[in-house]
Formats: sequence, structure tokens, C-alpha cells
Amino acid sequence: MSHAQRAVIAIHGGAGTISRDTSPEELKAYHEALADVLRAGQAVLAAGGSALDAVTVAVQHLEDCPRFNAGRGAVFTHEGTHELDAAIMNGTTLDAGAIACVHRVRNPILAARSVLERSPHVLLVGEGAEAFAAANGAELVDPEYFFTEARYAQLQRALASAAVSLDHDMPLKKEPIDPDTKFGTVGAVACDMHGHVAAATSTGGMTNKAIGRVGDSPLIGAGCYANDATAAVSATGTGEAFIRAVACYEVGALMAYAGLSLADAAERVIRERLPRVDGRGGLIAVDAQGNVALPFNTEGMYRGVARVGETPVTAIHE
Ligand code: ASP
Repeated sequence: MSHAQRAVIAIHGGAGTISRDTSPEELKAYHEALADVLRAGQAVLAAGGSALDAVTVAVQHLEDCPRFNAGRGAVFTHEGTHELDAAIMNGTTLDAGAIACVHRVRNPILAARSVLERSPHVLLVGEGAEAFAAANGAELVDPEYFFTEARYAQLQRALASAAVSLDHDMPLKKEPIDPDTKFGTVGAVACDMHGHVAAATSTGGMTNKAIGRVGDSPLIGAGCYANDATAAVSATGTGEAFIRAVACYEVGALMAYAGLSLADAAERVIRERLPRVDGRGGLIAVDAQGNVALPFNTEGMYRGVARVGETPVTAIHE
């Protein structure tokens, strides 16, 4: 395979129950949004740019699109606020940066990238993360920026359903965090012409989550991981389960220690490791040869792949 041929970017915009009743116009809009994002990442790779730059650009675009649960379209916490998380990892150097529980950073992935490049730390949270982001040029917005009607309605449904369940004396810790079970987290993985890989993940978390709750997305190994020797992986789904399965790291571990191919390792995590801890969702993965895997164990996953010089391919259901 030539160097240009292995250059590829894959993205996801969340997995979960995606209603078959969604209007054709709405589905078309999702496909177009995914294809636009892929073209932006593809342009970086086609110009000889790095996988790290390609995933940064792709996730920044996904964060700016209100259809996805990251940045602008982030879901609401139980208190009706927003807390955003993001992580990014360079598969060549194994450098990583992440932020969690921020509510004024317009593009959490850019702040995570600043942590990767300019901080001795890997993960910053809350006020400290916002101060660091601002000091490093991140755009801060009024929290109102993250208010969208659709996500607010989703929170109201989640609150109503929790109230009903409580009437039936269900233990609170077993309440569904998001009865809509649409995990709109976004992510990107890429392999560049030089055979380097990178991964990035960004999210608003889960609707109706507790203040201070951190999911898998900003945790290196759980919702984001990259290593040139194995794979770059970004996940979406029930974050608590992905943390307990160390899902993204597990893909690379199965390749390194059990000799599995990228496709087999990714499938095994989704079909065996995650169900063992009641995990639902999907992941996207790419290796340094440009192989791609996009498995999920939910009804659908917003996803797409673009190789340099080829038309982007997008999909939502099976
Ligand atoms: N994994 C994310 C979280 O738990 C949710 C998602 O994928 O939409 O925060």
C-alpha cells in the first residue's frame, strides 16, 4: 500500500437507539454533517498533515455542529447545566491531553490539545481546566451558548422518567441516566501518510448526569487511546461501562498481547468485553497500516470513513 493510500480518517457522532422513524430530511442532514467533517479531516491528511491535526480539526467541526452531543450540542446535567469533557492522544509520542467538567470552553478538544502540548499534566478539570484553556488562547463562551431546545426536551424526558421509576421504589443508582439512549459523543481517529495515528473524543456526557460526573470520554484508555504500535481508538456509549472495561486500551492490548487483527480486537471488545459489564455503544479504530474498524452493539452509530482521494462514506444504522 502506498503512503497516500493508508492515510484515512474515521469519525463517530455517537451510538445508541436511532429511531427508524427519523425523517429522510433529518437523516440526510446527519449524513451531510458527517461528510463535511470527513472532508475537513481528509484535507489535512491529503496535504501531508499529521493524524493529530486531522482528528483535532474533525472533532472541532463536530463540536460546532448542534446535532451532536459535544460542544454546542452538549446534553444537560441533572441541574440543567452543561459539563463538557474531551481528550486527545498522539500515537507516536504517546503524549495525551484531556479536560473534564468545563462549562465555558467553546471547543473542549482545542483545550485538550493545549494540555497535550503545553502542560506537564494529562487531565485538568473544572475551574483549573478553564483557567488553563483561557491562558492558552481558548475561546470562552457564555454557558447559554450550549443551550439547545432539543437537548433541554431530552432532559425533561429523563427527569420525568426518573420520577416515575422512583414511584416504583427503584434504587436511585439504577435509574437510567438517559432513557433516550442516544449517545451523541463525537470522536475521530486517523492514520496519516507517515503511518502515525491519533485519536480524539469530545462529549457533553450523558443527559441527567450528576454534577461532577466524569465519563469515559476524557479518560485515556477508556474513551480515547492511540499508539502507533497498535491502534487509535475513540469510543461512545455508556461511559461507566467503558471505564470499567478500559475499552479503548483493550483494543490495542488484544492486538499486542493476543495477536488479534484490528477488526477482531475491536469486535471482541464490543461483543464480549463490554456486554460483560452491561456496556452499550460503539467505537472507531484505525491502525498504522490504515485498516479501519467501526463496531457497535447498539441499533446504530453515526459514523463515517474517508481515505485520501476517495469520496467519504457515511452510515447511521447497521
Ligand atoms: N460515553 C459518553 C459518556 O459516558 C456518552 C456518549 O458516548 O454519548 O460521557
